[in-house]
Amino acid sequence: MISVTIFNEFHHEKIDQEVKEIYPNGIHQAIAEFLATEEDFTVRTVTLDDEDCGLTKEVLDSTDVLLWWGHLRHGDVPDHVARRVKEAVLKGMGFIPLHSAHHSKPFRLLMGTTCNLNWREEGDLERLWVVNPAHPIAQGVGSYFEVEHEEMYCEPFGIPEPDQLVFIGWYEGGEVFRSGCCYFRENGRVFYFQPGHETYRTYYNPAVQRVIKNAIRWAAPTRRLNALVCPHVKKVTPGKPESHLG
Ligand code: ZN
Repeated sequence: MISVTIFNEFHHEKIDQEVKEIYPNGIHQAIAEFLATEEDFTVRTVTLDDEDCGLTKEVLDSTDVLLWWGHLRHGDVPDHVARRVKEAVLKGMGFIPLHSAHHSKPFRLLMGTTCNLNWREEGDLERLWVVNPAHPIAQGVGSYFEVEHEEMYCEPFGIPEPDQLVFIGWYEGGEVFRSGCCYFRENGRVFYFQPGHETYRTYYNPAVQRVIKNAIRWAAPTRRLNALVCPHVKKVTPGKPESHLG
């Protein structure tokens, strides 16, 4: 089983009628609903207003993959929570920042860059081209898929060179964007996925749902450390490999 935690700042849905109508129970619940059909996932949700954003050490220790949606209130995520998420990733937890989480504190900490981009909110069609068809995250969506209306994000995107690029998004204005980017950070995996603006029905799109499910399975830990350490080791005695860490 893969233990999935969905963090949502859960702010637009409370203050904006348009968003409330699309996601009456919050973006986190809309995502949780389509993940709930997968037999290998257990899903829980947390929000910004929970104590420590709901992301205590215990919650992160028992999370295999953390999804993150935030936009207006990135600054209200305490720095110690962002550092805790970063450390959990370095120890092996998967992390999937969605859409405007490009500016979330944990993603910027993990990237070490501004993660700035250019944007326009005019309901452009986004066509996401698969540029790595053998990649596990690209399975089941064809050679491209479309999101009928999406906020336009375009290059230059202030990220480090992705370790693996899965999707390039194209918009009606002719702009392009690295819309699906994979990173390996020590023991953990990160997948940034562009679609997901709050005033569009993006999370009801079957291809978007498929990509998020694929990404969760890709990002699930292969190795999980309890602590980040830098141990002294001894020279290996021939025939006694265990002496190395002794
Ligand atoms: Zn947006």
